[in-house]
Amino acid sequence: MFNDLPELGEFPAAWKRKHLLGLEDLTREELLILLDKAQVFRDAFDQGRRKFSILPGHTSVTLFFENSTRTRTSFSLAAQRLGASCVAFAASTSSLSKGESIVDTAKNLEAMGCESMVVRHSTPGIPKLLSENVHCSIINAGDGAHEHPTQGLLDILTMRQRLGSLEGKTVGVVGDIAHSRVARSNVWGLKKLGANVIVCGPSTLVSPRWEEMGVEYSHSLDKILTRVDVLNMLRIQFERQYTSPFPSIREYSLLFGMDGDRLRRAKPDLLVIAPGPINRGVELTPEVADGPQSAILDQVSNGLAVRMAVLWLTDGARKLTNNE
Ligand code: ASP
Repeated sequence: MFNDLPELGEFPAAWKRKHLLGLEDLTREELLILLDKAQVFRDAFDQGRRKFSILPGHTSVTLFFENSTRTRTSFSLAAQRLGASCVAFAASTSSLSKGESIVDTAKNLEAMGCESMVVRHSTPGIPKLLSENVHCSIINAGDGAHEHPTQGLLDILTMRQRLGSLEGKTVGVVGDIAHSRVARSNVWGLKKLGANVIVCGPSTLVSPRWEEMGVEYSHSLDKILTRVDVLNMLRIQFERQYTSPFPSIREYSLLFGMDGDRLRRAKPDLLVIAPGPINRGVELTPEVADGPQSAILDQVSNGLAVRMAVLWLTDGARKLTNNE
């Protein structure tokens, strides 16, 4: 059936999830299945094999209630490259503004015939709520500060490609930890793969309670600089804050921004990643963002591969669960 990408192999018997709501619930085995299958798509991409007929007849709807550049485009490209079709739901011009609930909206979209919905919403838990009310696959593309599982997966895939096994490696996640769904998905995924995680940022954005999740915390980037193999530089999520968490952006960037001077003081092969959008001169200087130790654009290519793997795996599990 998948003879235009035979490297994918048989559908993995251990994969039974028709929804992808977060990395917290996944077992280590499920995480590895996702990463291994994404790697197959990435290898094919690098060989110039970009279009397959793996999901013909599948229709995916993207329902984004927050802005997006990379996630939405790459989910829609991922669907197309699998031979599926993808429709974008425009929240601002929909009947939600006339008072329709999000569950009713999703049920109506499903009634037109769709196999998956890729959902981004500012309220944590909306993808889970929808998964309890529709039959199609629900894929979380970011819910508030809760989780962004495909971002976590693409970050981890990028680290694994550059560093090999992540067992015992130390990953620093720097920035607005309090309001970041990327931080949470990174922590859940990295811990399952045996990595040490240090969350780092100003005390207003990094709580000591992260220790309860088996994670170290630090309020000094300079102190962790020589210990980390990877730095994941997060954006300050001003859209989720009502007061300023630090006196000025300039002060933040002096203390927590990654620049050439800090790069030279870090381990020589330090890998720098960032989920994007990046704010040049705030969390990263152009010297770092565009330099040889940055994998930022490679992450974007991996994002497409991850989303192809997620659509394929959740589709297979949905067919089994729904007896389709
Ligand atoms: N693009 C990521 C997200 O949607 C990170 C960010 O916005 O800073 O969470």
